[in-house]
Amino acid sequence: MNRHKPLAVGFLLFFLGSASGADQDIRLNSLGFIPKFEKKATIVSVCSDFTVKNVQNGKTVFSGKVSGPFHQDDVGQDVWIADFSSFRKKGEYYLDVPGVGRSMSFPIGEEVYDFAYYTTVRSFYLWRCGTAVEGVHEGCRFAHDACHMEDGFQDYVGPDSTRRDGTGGWHDAGDYNKYVVNAGITVGNLFLAWDHFRLRLEKRSLGLPETAPGYPDFLKEIKWETDWLLKMALDSGKVSHKLSALGFCGFIMPEAELEKRYFTDWSSTATADFCAVMAMAARYFKPFDPSYARSCLDAAGKSYAFLKIHPENKRPNQRAFRTGFYGSADPDDRLWAAAELWETTGDGQYLSDFETRAEACRRKMFRNWDWGEVSNLGMITYFFSKRKGKNTELIDSIRRDILATADSIVQIADQDVYGRPLEGRYWWGCNGAIARQAVVLQMANRISPNPEYVNTALDIVGHLFGRNVYGRSFVTGLGHMPPMKPHDRRSGPDGIDPPWPGYLVGGGLTATNWTDVEADFRTNEIAINWQAALVYALAGFVEDR
Ligand SMILES: [Zn+2]
Repeated sequence: MNRHKPLAVGFLLFFLGSASGADQDIRLNSLGFIPKFEKKATIVSVCSDFTVKNVQNGKTVFSGKVSGPFHQDDVGQDVWIADFSSFRKKGEYYLDVPGVGRSMSFPIGEEVYDFAYYTTVRSFYLWRCGTAVEGVHEGCRFAHDACHMEDGFQDYVGPDSTRRDGTGGWHDAGDYNKYVVNAGITVGNLFLAWDHFRLRLEKRSLGLPETAPGYPDFLKEIKWETDWLLKMALDSGKVSHKLSALGFCGFIMPEAELEKRYFTDWSSTATADFCAVMAMAARYFKPFDPSYARSCLDAAGKSYAFLKIHPENKRPNQRAFRTGFYGSADPDDRLWAAAELWETTGDGQYLSDFETRAEACRRKMFRNWDWGEVSNLGMITYFFSKRKGKNTELIDSIRRDILATADSIVQIADQDVYGRPLEGRYWWGCNGAIARQAVVLQMANRISPNPEYVNTALDIVGHLFGRNVYGRSFVTGLGHMPPMKPHDRRSGPDGIDPPWPGYLVGGGLTATNWTDVEADFRTNEIAINWQAALVYALAGFVEDR
């Protein structure tokens, strides 16, 4: 924030017109704040002082002066920043800003993100396909019957047009289809959350049905997806790219979609992602279910061997389909697969494959990454591996790139009036990319602990839950003025006013054009890959108990 140059106030008043004085002019993380970390609000009306007041008795507990004004071009605003980081007392508060108004109330406490974590992980359960699901949130019961029980048909993969079992897994997004490439980064991100924050997550109940006895709830939910992924492996180890209807259905409940759905042609990208997540599953499930872990590893090894004799970038034939394409070249996916198989098995062939590919990568760490670029996942696994035999030069260059990338994320967040830690670019699903930046920040903090990395990871949570140009939460059912009309097929026809809870929407394609409109899939859809990144971002801050 300190890099902004204050402007003259008279100049600002010209642009702002009359300050509205509405509470909505004070934007902050509506989930609240953890005592020892930064606490900031962005105020879009002229102001000079602020106080923090106790909700129960209205008493002032902290007072300070705002900084600013700061101008930001992409949102076309001049803003002031209230920083009350040094106030650390647990309780329920609001900001009072003379001439502007009072903010929404917010808690300060160690547990302020726990319910959001619970709700966002449970959103995966509510995404389950091939079973009935139900959940209660804020007094509303959300439910659907078992769906897509005919998944799926083999017309496009042969040997005939009969049915083969592809039931289960999660619906992908606002639609009900199931795509292996997007499942890959999603499960990879969720396993990372488990790996990095296991002590915080392991004992937390998510209230899930007993579909994986003996598993901690977090892994139980992931297993629902890996069970399905195993069904996507065809003969010889190649993996079908997706299981999908020919086109998108309308806004109907999932059990009402009765169109035939098909396994599609295989792709090398899907097959490599399958290898990576199955190798991870073998590692993380082993303490709870050794025999399942073995079958995951066998499947990963078989598919990797298949890829070795098919080195070409095999794109799937999807000509018959109008659903999600998820087309992406495979080198980053093959790199990730090699890293995970090496970490799980210690087998030198995987190490050699990984290092050859990693050395050829000019950049070892990307700031923005998603299903189309997953090499970060492989680099992180290799870097933090405790196995012997790593190449020290490669390790040094990955370390440098993780720290440099994290530093640039910190710098960008610091220069944004809403703490948005992503360069001033906007695209479909960029809220998911914002959430995913928590991974690199947390990794950097492991290598070289620095409060700036942690505070910027919290800026991510703050931005997504209300400290943004809209002054609204981007996550259904959570925080201040959350989305009410997400592009989610269940949320339309279910007869319940609020949408299904816990889902991150994609966000604007420009700094200011997000609209909370059901038809607007470009800015208001939900998706498993964005959701997993949000779960990761929150998992780092649930109470350590
Ligand atoms: Zn379904």
